[in-house]
Amino acid sequence: MSTVKIAELLREAAARLPGEEARHEAEQLLLHTLGVERAWLFAHATDAVADADRQRFELLLQRRAEGHPLAYLVGRRGFWTLDLEVNVATLIPRPETELLVEQALARLPADDMVRVADMGTGSGAVALSIASERPLATVMATDVLGPTLAVAVKNAQAHGLENVWFRRGHWYTALGADRFDMIVSNPPYIAADDPHLQQGDLRFEPPPALASGADGLDAIREIIGGAHEHLVPGGWLLLEHGWDQGQAIRELLEQASFVEVQTVQDMEQRDRVTLG
Ligand code: GLN
Repeated sequence: MSTVKIAELLREAAARLPGEEARHEAEQLLLHTLGVERAWLFAHATDAVADADRQRFELLLQRRAEGHPLAYLVGRRGFWTLDLEVNVATLIPRPETELLVEQALARLPADDMVRVADMGTGSGAVALSIASERPLATVMATDVLGPTLAVAVKNAQAHGLENVWFRRGHWYTALGADRFDMIVSNPPYIAADDPHLQQGDLRFEPPPALASGADGLDAIREIIGGAHEHLVPGGWLLLEHGWDQGQAIRELLEQASFVEVQTVQDMEQRDRVTLG
């Protein structure tokens, strides 16, 4: 047994991580290592840490210092009202994507048995948030990758959501001949040669969840192109996208005869969701 106390270990760890969140992140990694709640940590600040725990914590700390995303190291991320499991097969849900959920809910009556498809569901963030807020809705969540879909299924089970269904497949092939009142997607939308893919969290996230062709719009073109075949008349299509893609996507939607086309901005006043 080492003589290092919890409080000391945390202090040292925080000093080794960059950024304003260092202290919070060190805490999260230690909570994950010890499998305890935050309150426990403070009640036991002067306890010595077992060597095995220290070693496991040290490994996580090193990975975090190398840039591995915190969400992957602790295997969880909060999104909307849900605590979700994530792993390297899933994109890490972003707060910006909550705008997509908000905009979807604004168009989904609570007292109707609407059908929604979330294409490229990843961890299930968008599909499960909608399903939890609209118990009468049926949400079909798709992803092309089996291991990714497995995470979404686990998340649905963990939250007891029985109104979500899962299908594996490439965009519309996963939907078969079904039609929906709404299709939502946070598809890959980054240009394949965008240097941001080599930076920050993006370096560690699944490339198929991020990049989509020379201008980043390949997936979005495909989704818009096939939407009419899978929407009921008057149905909605909502897409998340990059801050500089709003106009291009409005044009694509209008060319595909969508009406009431508009772009909604995120909290940073950047174009983020376009719908029609
Ligand atoms: N729908 C998931 C999310 O919003 C995954 C998106 C993706 O992998 N591009 O987090």
